[in-house]
Amino acid sequence: MERTFDELKLTGRLPSPSAVGLRILKLTQAEDYSQEELCATIQSDPALAGRIIKLANAVLSDGMEPVTSVEKAAMRLGSSTVRTVALGFTLVSDNRMGDCTNFNFDHYWSRSLARAVACSVMSRLKSQVDPAEAFTSGLLCGIGKLALATVHPVAFSKLLRERRAHATREWFAAENRLFAITHSEISSLMLKDWGFPGAFSQAARIFEHDVVRPNDEEEDQAWALVDLLRWSTQIADLCLEPREFENTRWRGLWYGLDQVAHEMQVERDELYHLCDEVARRWEDWGQILCVPTRESLSFVETAVDVEHHRARSRGLWMVPQGEPKAIMEQALDAQTQQGRRPYRVLIVDDDEAVGRVLGHQLEEAGYQVLLARDGDEGLRLAVGEVPHIVITDWMMPGMDGAEFCRSLRQVEAGKKMHILMVTAKDEEDDVVAGLESGADDYLTKPFNAKVLMARVKAGQRLVEMHEKSVEADRLKMQDGADMGIMNRKLAEASHTDPLTELPNRRYAMKRLKQEWERANRTGRPLSVVWIDLDHFKQVNDTWGHDIGDYVLREAAKTIRQTLRQGDTVCRVGGEEFLAICCNSDLKNATTGAERIREALEANEMQFTRFRGHVTASLGIAQRLPTMSSVDDLLKAADEMAYAAKDAGRNCVRGWQGPWRQSRSA
Ligand code: GH3
Ligand code: MG
Ligand code: MG
Repeated sequence: MERTFDELKLTGRLPSPSAVGLRILKLTQAEDYSQEELCATIQSDPALAGRIIKLANAVLSDGMEPVTSVEKAAMRLGSSTVRTVALGFTLVSDNRMGDCTNFNFDHYWSRSLARAVACSVMSRLKSQVDPAEAFTSGLLCGIGKLALATVHPVAFSKLLRERRAHATREWFAAENRLFAITHSEISSLMLKDWGFPGAFSQAARIFEHDVVRPNDEEEDQAWALVDLLRWSTQIADLCLEPREFENTRWRGLWYGLDQVAHEMQVERDELYHLCDEVARRWEDWGQILCVPTRESLSFVETAVDVEHHRARSRGLWMVPQGEPKAIMEQALDAQTQQGRRPYRVLIVDDDEAVGRVLGHQLEEAGYQVLLARDGDEGLRLAVGEVPHIVITDWMMPGMDGAEFCRSLRQVEAGKKMHILMVTAKDEEDDVVAGLESGADDYLTKPFNAKVLMARVKAGQRLVEMHEKSVEADRLKMQDGADMGIMNRKLAEASHTDPLTELPNRRYAMKRLKQEWERANRTGRPLSVVWIDLDHFKQVNDTWGHDIGDYVLREAAKTIRQTLRQGDTVCRVGGEEFLAICCNSDLKNATTGAERIREALEANEMQFTRFRGHVTASLGIAQRLPTMSSVDDLLKAADEMAYAAKDAGRNCVRGWQGPWRQSRSA
């Protein structure tokens, strides 16, 4: 991926800051650049200076004197923040057009700006994030898309035309296929490349993905930014989307605000007020940066309209009231009790009459009903409200039923839902295609209410069964049975010498370091034995390599069998082995080594034409306080093995004298 990014850079077509921006980059690459120089560079571009002063005043708390110069802004915001902000602005002003036909550059910046503003407003709820930095992060976190549009205008344009949905797994997979990198990876690498704070780059990589924060993860800056970016993207999309009740995408986004409010831990009304502030500031900033914006209706007022609209639709547009998560928990609670189960059914159908009739029947039967008029809205509701059962039409405008199914199956929550495809097409091929797209069952239109209800009940049973088996799986995983074996197998493969099946050199070094540390802590002795087979080359030369291999395996087996419990022997070279003897001083280790020597000498091997034994020269060393690392210990043992060779082979030598640092030099 880094290589792909380097290739992108080499094209020279990646979006880049303006000339002033580049000067700022260059200047601030040194650790100790001066604030004066930075401010002077910014001031060489009066428009940039004006924007920075404006931002400083927007994010500083009320009651403070407004700043009037770049220097004052830098003093208040800190020079690293000013650098970040300045770079962000110079990127907006210089990357406004391109050849990618289906990429709307104005829309891109307009959305990025709305997200930037939303980020800085919402950052009040996140003490870890500086509002000015939040602004810049929101502005630039999607820069990878702009990069793909400028570097690969034709291919990216085609992708945009073919795929309606953005930021789904399918989308990322398509990017990977086409470009060997995804836009979120590019965003992340570009931000890193320009020296933006590390949290920017991490957050840009994660925020569009379905990554769930690890439970034990502290509220660090990157995760705080991820939250901000996710909320702000949703709010930005709402600002840009035409606000009409017939616009199902807008409705889906609007309902999504419930989840945002829940995550932000604010009341919905408070969120609507915050959104109104975002919309106002967005228009403001649009004028300053010459980025188009949309005059937006008040969120607070819209909320009232939506309530009226829902009431008028005979209660069928039942997006559950209250906190979405709380509803889920209630539902789960209710499921574990044996009583009534508030199962939720989502109906996705562009024909409102069908939705109403179906919905009515299901409500009568005690189900909670959610209605969506197309695949897009269906997806939003499915992901936000997590229904148990989904009934979807096949033929719908925009995303059809099959595409809807496939998309739903991509998200974790969607995998568990029971999907019923309702279709007027009754030919076999269509049924097969429907099931292949991920539906569990299908019904043909016009349908019989009783049959439908029976199918829904059957689906409910399957969901229940699935939930039980998931729980069982989870418990099993906790036992560690499956995972443990898998992990052990993987670890063994990378730590085992295939010929002798002894641990390999990598393992030996790792293990030895651990034992060294342990000995350091406990003060217990630690010794090693270096074992080098004698005249092994002759075995190969006389009998051939295969017999050489056989002898090696036999010798390995003999050594392993002779070893004391608790000691470990590894193959560290061709015909070289290392025994790690924990809790052993030189004397103990010498006894062990002598046993090995005897065992090898006594082991008469027989293999095809070969008959005989192999001997070894063994060098022993004990860890001494004067040794600085495992290398010293190994060197001492190796030297002793040489001494044994010198002494005529087939014997044992131990390190007696003190170890002096000068030896290792
Ligand atoms: P010395 O007593 O001085 O240690 O003599 P030596 O012949 O054992 O030492 P040398 O280091 O000269 O030769 C080691 C030989 O081990 C050379 C190499 O061909 C052989 N060897 C290394 N790995 C393998 C292996 O995996 N299989 C086989 N068959 N031979 C190996
Ligand atoms: Mg050797
Ligand atoms: Mg040898």
